[in-house]
Amino acid sequence: MTVAQEAYRIYVDGEWAEAADGQTFVSVNPANTDDVLGRFPDATAEDAERAIEAAHRAYPAWAATPPAKRSEVLLRAADLLERRAEALARELTREEGKVLAASRAEVKRAAATLRFYAMEGLSFAGETLPSDDPHALVYTVHEPLGVVTVITPWNFPLSIPARKIAPALVTGNTVVFKPASDTPLMGLRLVEAFVEAGLPPGVLNLVTGSSRRVGLPLVAHPLVKAVTFTGSTAAGEAIHRAVALTTRTQMELGGKNPLVVLDDADLDLAVDLAIKGGYELTGQACTATSRVLVHRAVHDAFVEKLAAKTQALHIGSGLEEGVDLGPLANGEQLETVLRYVRVGCEEGATLVCGGERLSAPPYDKGYFVRPAVFAGVTPTMRIAREEIFGPVIAVIAVDSLEEALDVANGTDYGLSAAIVTRDVERAQRFARGVQAGVVKVNRPTTGNALNAPFGGVKKSSTATYRESGRAALAFFTQTKTVYLG
Ligand code: NAD
Repeated sequence: MTVAQEAYRIYVDGEWAEAADGQTFVSVNPANTDDVLGRFPDATAEDAERAIEAAHRAYPAWAATPPAKRSEVLLRAADLLERRAEALARELTREEGKVLAASRAEVKRAAATLRFYAMEGLSFAGETLPSDDPHALVYTVHEPLGVVTVITPWNFPLSIPARKIAPALVTGNTVVFKPASDTPLMGLRLVEAFVEAGLPPGVLNLVTGSSRRVGLPLVAHPLVKAVTFTGSTAAGEAIHRAVALTTRTQMELGGKNPLVVLDDADLDLAVDLAIKGGYELTGQACTATSRVLVHRAVHDAFVEKLAAKTQALHIGSGLEEGVDLGPLANGEQLETVLRYVRVGCEEGATLVCGGERLSAPPYDKGYFVRPAVFAGVTPTMRIAREEIFGPVIAVIAVDSLEEALDVANGTDYGLSAAIVTRDVERAQRFARGVQAGVVKVNRPTTGNALNAPFGGVKKSSTATYRESGRAALAFFTQTKTVYLG
């Protein structure tokens, strides 16, 4: 039986359109690849160019639109997302694979993000400065930049675009947005909400397609004043090399996030945090726990408890009740995870449990893998240093907090880090010494508050601009100082 596939379009200059050369690609459910979400334009360099030019033309009027009017559009879009929350959450799970509860939370988060920036945009002001000249008024204003390119990954296909597009728009920029090719529908749904909320033509443009065709044209164009990107470190580096000297960039990249378990830790809490951080979203979060650095005194007890809980996790389609872990997002992710499991075994680590593909029914049409725990891992092994982006936890034994800090800091990444201890003094020593943009005590490495700055150090981020919270607005604006009188 052939099922008619819904054909979606890109959105350029207020019009829904096909790709210039008519090429398309499909988005499928990673839990069941027979389930096709729709067909999308594989946009060309010409489409990217049209989108950037449309955003450039729309910029002066949008930048001059009163802030309250810009905020109103965000608020209406948030209402629309909330009104459609259940349908959107179901589509999100079908397109990306995460369990329904996580999709519901993501839709809610996207709407809350729009509301947050709608409010922040109203109070984001410059300052009046004391002046040596009593006749002069010296003040600063924050001006928008112009056209901003937004490029996002598939793992949070609604909330990551929301947290980039909302602050860009509310500060008066115009946007060209390319969602990941695994999740174009979620990108399109967000754009639909903005369009219905009354965004003028050209202010937000949607370009779906492969980075091979539109990646470079979207970032290297002279009219693009800023690129905000979340994705792999390799792609971030490629973009960094391609942009002009004057193009501002904000890169949120990979992670190899450690959870440190000290000898005084509540072991049940430590195991729960490892499971939540390591396996939620099937390990496909930039802040996922991929290394657990456990004090030797509690190492064996921790590994035993972690393995038992890991083996009890229920794997399946995220749409089913009672499922803890959905599939990996695509075939490439599956291959990567299976390859790293082989690498870990070859390197001499002990595979305590999991790591195998599930291929018998009901798993045979999806990208399912059993979550893995490795013990006996040493800090120099590849599974201890490289981002896997899947449900694989590498347990490393350490003898002290100092050694834990050395190991935690021993990778190229520095996004999120957490510690489990009852000792405030050691927790603070960890917070001071760990090289990470986000530090958690007795909490999972994953998750960040809407109003708190988010980002990493080393190869996890470009350090200049943080995302999330009020800090995000600085990226999308430049300061002008005015001397009056
Ligand atoms: P990816 O780098 O393959 O793709 C991300 C986006 O960039 C996609 O839209 C892709 O089409 C585009 N892209 C890829 N190469 C490009 C190029 N040369 N020019 C322009 N665009 C290009 O990443 P992914 O597989 O979608 O997501 C997983 C990665 O994202 C992981 O490394 C993860 O750690 C990272 N991530 C980071 C954060 C964070 O906030 N630090 C959050 C989520 C995901």
